[in-house]
Order: sequence, then structure tokens, then C-alpha cells
Amino acid sequence: MDQAACLRLANRMASLEPSATLAMAARAGAMKAAGVDVIDLSVGEPDFPTPEHICRAGEAAIAAGKTKYTPAAGIPALREAVAADYARRSGLEVTPAQVIVSNGAKHSLHNLFTALLNDGDEVIVPTPYWVSYAELIKLAGARPVLVETTIEDDFKLQPAAFEAAVTPQTRMLLLCSPSNPTGVVYTRAELEALADIAIAADLAVVSDEIYDQLVFDGRESVSFPTLRPGLAARSIVVAGVSKTYSMTGWRIGWTISPAPLAKAMGSLQSQETSNPCSVSQHAAVAALTGPQDCVTAMRDAFQVRRDLVIDRLRQIPGVKIPEIGGAFYAFFDIRSSLRKPVGPATSVAWCEQLLEQEQVATVAGSAFGAEGYVRMSFAASEEKLAAGLDRIARFVG
Ligand code: PMP
Ligand code: GLU
Repeated sequence: MDQAACLRLANRMASLEPSATLAMAARAGAMKAAGVDVIDLSVGEPDFPTPEHICRAGEAAIAAGKTKYTPAAGIPALREAVAADYARRSGLEVTPAQVIVSNGAKHSLHNLFTALLNDGDEVIVPTPYWVSYAELIKLAGARPVLVETTIEDDFKLQPAAFEAAVTPQTRMLLLCSPSNPTGVVYTRAELEALADIAIAADLAVVSDEIYDQLVFDGRESVSFPTLRPGLAARSIVVAGVSKTYSMTGWRIGWTISPAPLAKAMGSLQSQETSNPCSVSQHAAVAALTGPQDCVTAMRDAFQVRRDLVIDRLRQIPGVKIPEIGGAFYAFFDIRSSLRKPVGPATSVAWCEQLLEQEQVATVAGSAFGAEGYVRMSFAASEEKLAAGLDRIARFVG
């Protein structure tokens, strides 16, 4: 059907890219539905079912009629549970008024960019970055300032590069540790160096800590506001249940911020979406307050897979990969297999050809602002990973 000219899109849509991770997952899903034997290592979604006791809490909420509007910022029990859980793990004092529960952490990010950024403001985003950051910042009218990191530096933002990127327009730094897409985890000392620059330059810091419980080899996952006294006054922590409790479809995420900003984001959300799903909120309370052995079990399984993936990728000639300390992604260097006379010229072409020739779905590094790399998720069974890595090795060979 034709579309009338009056439905021309708003200017803000002109540069909006759809989520590359979700697009690749949809493509792999369509191939699977058509009977193709695809190994999908594209989307970052735990492959475990949501733990039984959490599902039961969702069912109990429905049975008890908890199916109506809730307060826009979330039910008190969930805001309290988030505050208590974060306070226990970080050692910081947090009140429920500092917590805003949203429809996934992606929505939390949208809320905070919308509430804080004006046209022309700059946000420093180290590359490689998770696909949605740059688009959500642009939607808020601000400008993502992409600061490159290198595989030699384990894809970590270097203090000098951060300092050099600060201008009078800079409003905030966006950090993600453990990182999507690289899996690297900043140490306390590395974060302290960045915190000191943020304080000196009077910047806000958004710390995406959605993978904070998925760290390997006994690493410590440091919450950004704990690094320096008073840092919490300029920090916003973003997290949620999607990854920790394998609850991606329930759509519950949150921010922890100073209370005045939280209040503003609550007002914004009350006009935008009202409350996050009532049933999901009750399930999230059960996730945070119930037994936590499911978290440990999933983390241990991811660590075994991480070992398998690193070992196998390092055996492929020319493929380089940094130390993976957390999350469930391997972000590897494919530059040595690009631009051979008949080979793919870009990471997008590399992923396309891998999908066509070997039926393995991955995501091109360019979607994360890092051409020459590819991201594979290891949130898949060991059997699938081993088969996928056989195919990747054959493809590169
Ligand atoms: N931040 C990061 C770094 C992520 O990988 C994701 C995964 N989608 C999100 C935020 C958003 O998660 P969700 O919206 O499922 O809570
Ligand atoms: N964060 C996951 C990923 O990067 C889920 C997909 C998305 O939300 O874009 O694959």
C-alpha cells in the first residue's frame, strides 16, 4: 500500500539505525523457521529458562489480581528490593526514592538521556559500545562523542583519551563494565582514574552495570558511585533483571540516581508508558529477594563457555581476542581475514558470508563502532558453541 506524503517521518528519524543485534537475531530466527540449521550467536540473551520460583511469583501475581496499573515509578516492594540489594552489594546507602523501575534497562537509558540532555550536549562513549547507546543519545538531541579504545588496551578507555575528549559541551561519560560487546571488566584502579577526571570536569557518569553479577574467576565488580566520596551525587547506575536472572522478556530494568533526578524520570515515565508490567514487577521482587543460587549456577555455566570460546577462537590463525572477565560476549579481531582478494571487505560482509556459507549468526563490529571485529554471544549451549566455532574456523580457513 502507498503511504501518503503527510506521513513523512520526523527529522529525528533520519539518522536512526534499527538495533543491529535484534535485526540479526530476527534474521537467524526466520532462517530457523524456514528449516535452516542456524547456530544463533547474535543476540545477547541468556539461553536458560527464567528460574522456576520467579515464574511462580509471576503466576501468583496474576492469580492475586495484581494485573492493574501500579505507581508509574514501580511498586514500592520492588523499589525497596532494588535499593536493599544494591545497598547490600555496594555498601552505599540507597533509598527506594532513588530507584525508578522501567520497561527494561534500555528504557531506563532512554529516560535518563531524555531527562538530562539538551540539544548539542555531548556524551562521551568509549568504542566499542553497545548498539543502542549512540542512537538513544541522538534521539535525546545530544551528540555521542565516540572515543576509540584498542584491543591492545583491552578495549578500556584510557584516562588521556577521556580527558582529551572533554569540551565545554560535555555533559556525561557513559561506561559499561562488564562490557557489552567486549566482555572486559575494568579494575578498581582503572575506574578511579576515570572518576577523578569526571569529577574534575564536573561530568555526570552513567554506569551501565547490567552484567555486574556475571563476572568470572572471582573478579570483583566495582559499582562506579562507590569509588570516591560524593561520586554518587553525579552518578546514575543502570541495571535490571534481564541478564542476571534470565528475564529478558519480562522487561524490567532500573536506574539508581540522586532522588531529584529519579523524581523527574518518574514524571517522564508517567507520561510516556505509565508503569512497567505489574506481573513482571512482582516476579522481579521474587528474583531479588529469593534464593540466589540460580545466579551462581548461570554464572558458572557462562564461565565454562567462556573458557571454551577463548580456547577455540585462539586456535584460529589470525584471530585475536581480549581477556573476557564478564558478561557473555567474545569480541574478536577479524582484520587478518578481511580484504583478501576474494574475502569479505568489511565486518558486515564477513558476518553476511558466515551466515550464508556456514549458517552461524554473529554481529558485525561496525554496529558497535569498531570495524574489523565481530561479536559472538556465548549465551548458548556448549554443544552449539562447539559446532558454531567449528564452522567459524572452517569459514576463516
Ligand atoms: N545495557 C546493556 C549493556 C545491554 O547489553 C542490554 C541488553 N539488551 C541492556 C542495557 C538492556 O537490557 P534490557 O532492556 O533487556 O533490560
Ligand atoms: N543487549 C543484548 C545484545 O546486545 C540484547 C539485544 C538488544 O537489546 O539490543 O545483544
